[in-house]
Amino acid sequence: MREILVETSARHIHLSAADLQVLCGEGSSLAVRGMLSQPGQFASTTRLQVKGTKRNFDGVTVLGPTRSASQVEISLTDAYALGIMAPVRESGDIKGTPGVTLVGPAGEVTLKEGLIIAKRHIHMTPADAQEFNVVNGEIVAVRIKTKERSLVFEDVVIRVREDFALAMHIDTDEANAAGIKGTVLGELIKL
Ligand SMILES: [Zn+2]
Repeated sequence: MREILVETSARHIHLSAADLQVLCGEGSSLAVRGMLSQPGQFASTTRLQVKGTKRNFDGVTVLGPTRSASQVEISLTDAYALGIMAPVRESGDIKGTPGVTLVGPAGEVTLKEGLIIAKRHIHMTPADAQEFNVVNGEIVAVRIKTKERSLVFEDVVIRVREDFALAMHIDTDEANAAGIKGTVLGELIKL
């Protein structure tokens, strides 16, 4: 069976077009700093401050393109540092999650909701899903072999879309728990 590229997402921000205007000024747009593995997705040159109740994070990268709703993805360690307890959610599923304040060069936005710890997931195309014999929303495990901290992650959700590229996304806590440095491949295990 084909192995899956495992990528680590550091804390980041997705913005709505409206919030981007408030934070960075009327008529501003996101400029590409680097393309990501998912087609069309990019790290932008825009960085914002995320304000917590205990401390703030400066220089948090905004990913593009803009989305219908703003969302901030952090690790559990980040949540403790900020002083705001975020739930584990799939990207986009932000109903009832805590809000957080973002500070940009032109202004400030306090989100009513949208602070989440991303549920670990695998992006894949329908053809990949067929090859791995899984369906969208299925929960699988992924074995990751590293030098000293090999780990099997359970509770990994499969996300299937025509415009996805095969990759597993974990956060920095998960990457550190498995001792991941650089490029690592994972083995999908059906549960
Ligand atoms: Zn992802």
